[in-house]
Amino acid sequence: MVNPRAGREIEFNDQKTDAPKKFAVIGGGPAGMAFAVNAAHRGHAVTLFESSTELGGQLNMAKKVPGKSEFHEMLRYFSVALDRAGVRVHLSTRLSAAVIAARIESGEFDEVIVATGVLPRRPEIKGLKHPKVVTYLDVLADDAPVGKKVAIIGAGGIGFDVAEYLVGDPKESLDPRTFMDTWGVDTHINSPGGLKSPAKQNFERTIHMFQRKPETLGKNLGKSTGWILKAKLRRAGVAMTAGVSYDAIDDQGLHITVNGDHQVVNVDTVVLCSGQVSNRTLYDELIGHGIPTRIIGGADVASELDALRAIEQATKLAVSL
Ligand SMILES: Cc1cc2nc3c(=O)[nH]c(=O)nc-3n(C[C@H](O)[C@H](O)[C@H](O)COP(=O)(O)OP(=O)(O)OC[C@H]3O[C@@H](n4cnc5c(N)ncnc54)[C@H](O)[C@@H]3O)c2cc1C
Repeated sequence: MVNPRAGREIEFNDQKTDAPKKFAVIGGGPAGMAFAVNAAHRGHAVTLFESSTELGGQLNMAKKVPGKSEFHEMLRYFSVALDRAGVRVHLSTRLSAAVIAARIESGEFDEVIVATGVLPRRPEIKGLKHPKVVTYLDVLADDAPVGKKVAIIGAGGIGFDVAEYLVGDPKESLDPRTFMDTWGVDTHINSPGGLKSPAKQNFERTIHMFQRKPETLGKNLGKSTGWILKAKLRRAGVAMTAGVSYDAIDDQGLHITVNGDHQVVNVDTVVLCSGQVSNRTLYDELIGHGIPTRIIGGADVASELDALRAIEQATKLAVSL
């Protein structure tokens, strides 16, 4: 994922450039970091601006999901690679389009690369401002409190990750003993097939996942891992309902219609995982100022986004300039 060159080495131009430029990269998610490292390797002067206190963008949420802790290593890789490549990194820095325009004018930068990522999409549902409504960003990035009875709206990859985060035991993917016990693996092979009864788990929350599409939930999860995730959620008693229209959210809970049947699901928290939209405001403003600007990653295209695509697009752009 980090190295799009693997198996396609000759497709990438890694020669030093004979026309070095000064790039300002806005956004330190995987797209911004991959562009910065690769452009700096080719001899460009790169400065990376990230508005939050840490690099990584959405990967900082992904790494909190049980089973995805290997993203810590990807972040460690990028922080070492940026340092070795000589990229200047400014955290907690959000520049306005006017400030960037002035710095371009003064000759500090030649071009801007916008990698400002994505924002949660907010669906049209009556009562969306109710205090029990939060987004996946509030839960995973800002530790928003989540009650015992939860509805998750949207069952894409992030919806499933949020469900796993809310029911999962982070130790399960880090501690081999807990993993073996949870999955019923008899490491002493005293029982036929080396299988034993899985350890009993106490799940604190009742979770209900909903999607609009009238098809099995999780159909597009990864072939090799999706079944594991679904097995885990089934074991945790997570209910899954397809073909739902969302009518309203109020003190009673989430009002839905399924097959013409109106229901009220009594929940304390509704988590929105209903897709993402590109965060393009800065890009549009820079273009408005006539500044040479390119856009990559989720800021460019939000649908079907993953880190693999963001890193590949950023790397290809860096080796082409
Ligand atoms: C829970 C979860 C699990 C995921 N799991 C996987 C997975 O298993 N595999 C996978 O491939 N992908 C996964 N993803 C998706 C992956 O994280 C994203 O596709 C990827 O991070 C997008 O990269 P990006 O650089 O385009 O945007 P982002 O990661 O959104 O980064 C954008 C960055 O720009 C910064 N920024 C925004 N505006 C400004 C500004 N004006 N000035 C300065 N900085 C700014 C933001 O703070 C952020 O750090 C997951 C995502 C989530 C939320």
